[in-house]
Amino acid sequence: MNTSNNLPVPYSSKNKILKVGIPRALYFYKYGPLWVFFLQNLKSEVLISAPTTEKIVATGAKLALSELCVPLKIYFGHVQALIDEYPELDYIFIPRYVSTHEKQYYCPKFLILPETIKYGMNVPIPILTLEVNAKKMHSIEGAIQMGKILGFDQEETSQAWVLALQKYKKFKENMNSSNYIMSLAKLDSNPLHEIKKRKFREVIPENIRGKFPLDILILGHSYNVYESHINKHLIERLQTMDCNVRTIEDLNPEKFKKPVKINKIYEQYWQSEDEILKTARYYLTEGKSEIDGVIFLISFACGPDSLIQELVMRDMKTRKIPFLSLILDEHSGESGVITRIESLVDMIRRKKYN
Ligand code: SF4
Repeated sequence: MNTSNNLPVPYSSKNKILKVGIPRALYFYKYGPLWVFFLQNLKSEVLISAPTTEKIVATGAKLALSELCVPLKIYFGHVQALIDEYPELDYIFIPRYVSTHEKQYYCPKFLILPETIKYGMNVPIPILTLEVNAKKMHSIEGAIQMGKILGFDQEETSQAWVLALQKYKKFKENMNSSNYIMSLAKLDSNPLHEIKKRKFREVIPENIRGKFPLDILILGHSYNVYESHINKHLIERLQTMDCNVRTIEDLNPEKFKKPVKINKIYEQYWQSEDEILKTARYYLTEGKSEIDGVIFLISFACGPDSLIQELVMRDMKTRKIPFLSLILDEHSGESGVITRIESLVDMIRRKKYN
């Protein structure tokens, strides 16, 4: 039996505990806990790449094609970081997310992620793939295929998958914008990867601190919103500026049930963008009084993002909600991002409290 990169399967995990590496990038920020629980249920030891550093970004940018979006470049960097830190790995886990809804697709980059890595860089460790494709099969069928590679039969894998899903659901219920990064960090047992809370310069004078709070909605993909290195610690910085942060993760999933129609004919079929549009729709309508402004994090060279950014911006303008889009790439400078956030927050605060 071969794996996604045609390297032979090392051995069944029934004989030995296998070491499986997970790159801390892209949908690790959404489905990471599920993958970790599933692999652990299949008796594997899970090793996660270190939190993103300048070196990881630079390595990824060197390995990947320059036209790719920055989250994908970072993914390359994390795969390399795993190879360098854990050369003894039995597998590197690279999932293929096609869709989790019959009528929608994830971005094409997710559809071909295992191949992008396989042909885009030298990976001397077998790639282990989980295919999630609601258009073709139930998620459990993809899980069973993966379990087979690890030496587990249908029943064992099904049980491992169902238990992992239950644990993931509970884990996610306790996650919100304030604890999201640290909750994910708990999945990594390597003490060298500890994420330390950053302390930033106080910009609000002590005598008025806490008196003029703002509520800011951050829109964007989870791998932009919670990737602190690339967004220059946006959440923590906003908190230092007396802002309460809201993200998609703070919304009740019930709000995501109704599909977004862009016009009478066109129904939004990019799954992640649909979530962003649904969040925007909620705050444009029933949740309007809950926010004072919006920051949309966009990846440079991302087609779906650039399309919906325009739609969201127009809607926010119509409802007079202050809006800032920040385009993230590997060259984004810290000072440029901070200046723009500080100006936005200052402008909204003056307008609200004057
Ligand atoms: S949605 Fe955009 S940012 Fe995300 S992987 Fe696709 S192109 Fe990159």
